[in-house]
Amino acid sequence: MPPSQLLPVFPSTSLFCLRLFVALGALGAALGLRAAPVQAAIEADLAVGYAPSYASSVGGDDNVEVLLANAVAGNNRINEISGTGAAMRIVGFIKSANDPVNWTTTGGIVGWLSGNDSRVSDVVSFGSSLGADLVTYIVQSSDSASIAAVAQQPGMFSSYNPGAVWSAVFAHETGGHNYGRSHSDGVLNPKTVMLHNYCSGGAAPPYYFTNPSIVYNNVLLRGTGDNCGQGGLVNGGDNSSANAQTVADRRERIVTGPRLGNVVRRWLFNQAAASAPAGTVITDQIGSASAMVRGIGATFTGSALRIPGGTTGNVAANAIAAYVDLPNGLISTRTSVTIELWATPLAAGNYARILEFGRPVQNGDGLGAAGEYTGTAGTAAPDSTQSSDGIMLSAAVGTDLKPSVSRPS
Ligand SMILES: [Zn+2]
Repeated sequence: MPPSQLLPVFPSTSLFCLRLFVALGALGAALGLRAAPVQAAIEADLAVGYAPSYASSVGGDDNVEVLLANAVAGNNRINEISGTGAAMRIVGFIKSANDPVNWTTTGGIVGWLSGNDSRVSDVVSFGSSLGADLVTYIVQSSDSASIAAVAQQPGMFSSYNPGAVWSAVFAHETGGHNYGRSHSDGVLNPKTVMLHNYCSGGAAPPYYFTNPSIVYNNVLLRGTGDNCGQGGLVNGGDNSSANAQTVADRRERIVTGPRLGNVVRRWLFNQAAASAPAGTVITDQIGSASAMVRGIGATFTGSALRIPGGTTGNVAANAIAAYVDLPNGLISTRTSVTIELWATPLAAGNYARILEFGRPVQNGDGLGAAGEYTGTAGTAAPDSTQSSDGIMLSAAVGTDLKPSVSRPS
């Protein structure tokens, strides 16, 4: 290509692009590095959208996820060795409803994303719903013969043509331009990632961002403006200095924890050490939903209630190993609930329950609610039963001691 064809297609806007590339060279054989300052990675959340045709072209949705995971992992590695402190994690994938192949240019796609155009708004909404700091979209655009990808500098949005989904391009666009990093801060020899495929094109190893703390083969990786006409320095020649925290904070990462101020039931098992025969009441510290010890062999230890195990549920109430019976309707009356408990398994009983909620489909013992086996001393073994609307947490899978949650029915 003559040099004039290597100029960015969007030189006067905030959109930056990469030319397509053909082949890659091997990473330079000799590395002479002065270690960059070690920084904890600051993660930004990335939402990935892709056109249905892209998934088809790579063999399905699973392969899309693998390709993007590799691109992000490569980006994170480049950031890590460049000492930028920036990293990404993928928080979700969405296959777009539309399949806008050749509907517009790559830059046009980025414009649609940033403008929440209805043709790509499902991707934008998906990113918003996840609180994503960065949103990218993979689709073959009408300029795909010459443009690999386009990204805002800085900004949230980027778009890739299918052949451009790999680590160096990803680091250049989403990891670079979206963070405010500039071509102009690149180093030409060795060619750093923001000049990848510029300045005569071709491969661009080593994949580093410029950082005044890094010396590569005796070359300080600080941009000097010698960058084949990509303009004056933007970050003082330091592409590592773009603020990782600013991008990660573009939309907050929401972590949902238990609402500890909204506890509606609490049972403590801290009674003085003593036996806890059937009928022992354990009061609800907040409401009036008392629990009761059923069966035989339970003891209070002073800090816990110890139950012996050793029987199944099909044992007469006078002989069954002790358990704690909670009031009916605790779960079924709620649309959502958080349960917190402390339990220590002392043996690996076959699917030994830590808790189980549900109801039998049989008639029950006639002493409680329909279908209820109350555990009242003197009642017979229930024989074979089936449960409905159940959920259980077991301490073991078979006799393999590991927690397991399941919905039997
Ligand atoms: Zn670029």
